[in-house]
Amino acid sequence: SILHRAAFTTSAARLDQLPPPGAPEICFAGRSNCGKSSAINVLANQRRLAFSSKTPGRTRLINMFGIPDPLAPGEQLGYLVDLPGYGYAAIGKQAREEWAEVLGAYLRERSSIAGVVLLLDIRRGLTDLDRRLAEWIAPTGRPVLVLLTKADKFPYGQRIKAVHAIRKQLAQDIGALHVIPFSATHRIGLEEASAHLENWISP
Ligand code: GDP
Repeated sequence: SILHRAAFTTSAARLDQLPPPGAPEICFAGRSNCGKSSAINVLANQRRLAFSSKTPGRTRLINMFGIPDPLAPGEQLGYLVDLPGYGYAAIGKQAREEWAEVLGAYLRERSSIAGVVLLLDIRRGLTDLDRRLAEWIAPTGRPVLVLLTKADKFPYGQRIKAVHAIRKQLAQDIGALHVIPFSATHRIGLEEASAHLENWISP
């Protein structure tokens, strides 16, 4: 997979610190502890590309991982963008609002977003914060891939039920929606997710 070539390029605490919009960006959003960094790492086939929300100090940033273009040295085919996890209980209200602002502004305004990967813990489903995020994405018309993470915690039948439930909740607002059960530890849905994301970068 071309995603395996992803390498760290930039961190930004604010939107004005990001490089100007260029190659297509696949951004990853989800609550703290939803399994976002595990998912990015297994998709990129690397142990420590993205950092867990448990890693202090690393996760308030927008981290960009470039996928180098083999035919044009120094240029990127696209980016994986790790957005700050939200909903972490132990931080103050003000910090939470700041994060929400950065996330909302990025999702609404960044012109180079090719699609958004929304990660939801399969046991928890869609929370209020996830809905808020979906409300920001919907008017942009960008495609959304929902990964129902930690799917190994559910037997097959329950996974399918969860997929249907989430589809029902989001399909009305999000035109191009794809929902799959995913597990970083058990590699469930890995090939399907990879293929889907590669297609966003080079259709
Ligand atoms: P992040 O904070 O969203 O980046 O989440 P992490 O990737 O750090 O994962 C949070 C917790 O969930 C960790 O304890 C992981 O070991 C666990 N986890 C992540 N992915 C999976 C998975 O696919 N299956 C299971 N069972 N646990 C997972």
